[in-house]
Amino acid sequence: MCIFARCTAVTVLALAATSAGATTLLINAHIHSMDAAHPEASAMAWDDRGKLLAVGDAAALQRQYADAKRIDAHGAAVVPGLIDAHGHMLDLGLTLVQADLVGSASVADVIARLQTFAAKLPKDAWLVGWGWDQNRWPGGAFPSAADLDAAFPERPVYLRRIDGHAAWANTAAMKRAKKSLDGVWQPEGGRIERKDGRATGILVDGATDLVADAIPPLSEKQTRDAYKAAFAKAVAAGLTGVHDPGTSLADLKILQKLAAAGEMPLRLYEMADGNNAALDWLCEQGGHWAEPSGHLRMQTLKLYMDGALGSRGAALLADYSDDHGNRGLFVSNPKAYREAVEKAHRCHIQVATHAIGDRANRHVLDTYEAVLGKDAATADHRWRIEHAQIVALSDIPRFANLHVIASMQPTHATSDMPWAEKRLGAERLKGAYAWQRFIHDGVPLAFGSDFPVEDVNPMLGLYAAVTRQDLAGHPPSGWLPDQKVNREQALAGFTRGAAYAAFMENEVGTLKPGLRADFVILDGDPMTVPVRQIADLKPISTWVDGKAVYRVTP
Ligand SMILES: [Zn+2]
Repeated sequence: MCIFARCTAVTVLALAATSAGATTLLINAHIHSMDAAHPEASAMAWDDRGKLLAVGDAAALQRQYADAKRIDAHGAAVVPGLIDAHGHMLDLGLTLVQADLVGSASVADVIARLQTFAAKLPKDAWLVGWGWDQNRWPGGAFPSAADLDAAFPERPVYLRRIDGHAAWANTAAMKRAKKSLDGVWQPEGGRIERKDGRATGILVDGATDLVADAIPPLSEKQTRDAYKAAFAKAVAAGLTGVHDPGTSLADLKILQKLAAAGEMPLRLYEMADGNNAALDWLCEQGGHWAEPSGHLRMQTLKLYMDGALGSRGAALLADYSDDHGNRGLFVSNPKAYREAVEKAHRCHIQVATHAIGDRANRHVLDTYEAVLGKDAATADHRWRIEHAQIVALSDIPRFANLHVIASMQPTHATSDMPWAEKRLGAERLKGAYAWQRFIHDGVPLAFGSDFPVEDVNPMLGLYAAVTRQDLAGHPPSGWLPDQKVNREQALAGFTRGAAYAAFMENEVGTLKPGLRADFVILDGDPMTVPVRQIADLKPISTWVDGKAVYRVTP
């Protein structure tokens, strides 16, 4: 039984598609639709524009779509296309073309990798790398310029930390800064590490630009190549969508060209960086801009409140437990931050702010509350906090009251767990990576990875979300195990929840008629395999708009 007008519309659509002979039917599939009304199905049909016509029982749909082109899933599991609600596309691309220091075991290991990489570079060209993490090295202390100078006395070397919130430069690189880094001064929103008044080579948050600004900018071709490398990596991981925080207007123009040329296989939800150029442009567009194919859009302003926990830049309400007198830092001037949020509000732009520490989260909530006013409860603003990593327990219900989305990254919890308690102490951990408390209080969650800070593979996020263990299964019952989520909640974070955080729940995130045929066929079922195997699941193929954008090569 159904409402007459609606039935007619569905039938007409189906007839139109069938008569054109352009319907495709996926059969013999184990579909987890993430549609609460019909969570399981064995077949689905879509039209030649990639719009889902029906999701249901294979026998019935084969009768209904007798002429459709058939694809046999051979019993494989199918889930909605996975969406990473916080992943840096250009940075991911750059890691694929710059020196890769991820997983390096010591300073000596870093130097060895750099020497191999430098062999391919022109003499004295900048050597730029990414991915070191002193927390993985013996002793865990920050490295210094001197460590690099012996191997690279002339060539400038600039190496970003894995979290992107600190950099390690050699003396040749620091000499290229506009102003000497020695002395006692500090830049706003950043910290130059010094010993006896001399810069050590470690730059935190806002200080990184002092050296980074001296690196020659990427050419348009280099940028395009990096993006394309990132697209290929993302769809191979089963991602059909990414929310990309902090894109410049110049990079958006390059993405626009890629989308227009049909070279963007997935959906990118771009967030404008905090520079006036992008904010002004977005205001001129009326607060949102979308490319006709639906693959590229921008309607969000990305701002930063603090740094990261690993480099002690996260702004805390009380001292770091392992660094007395240090409460981290705000990387944005609160007045300028508030003005940017107000302007976004005037222009109907969604705001997404990076906040890691409890002081930063509180400041962002206070600002959102003040600027939104009565719109907090009545307007469909969907403002977000990116990370919401360490939040005072009394602030968690405020997310729900203000209708603020928590955009969180399950793998951050499992990466940080070896040292987070040292930084924070046991009491503050109650509000750290507290997914279940957010769910309990009715806060909408979106999950992501923050790639390339973490691996782009969303299976690692699903695994971390349901286990709170590392890949070796430690600790045995999971870290702060009461904050684990179940498989359905984890998958919702990477599908439905992420779609909602981008105003796209009527297009993607679930598999039901009228939405896009964005889905992934997996080599195992994430809802039933033993939990330890979730991390090993791989896409057999990834589909966007009903077309395969990735297929495993046999
Ligand atoms: Zn990020």
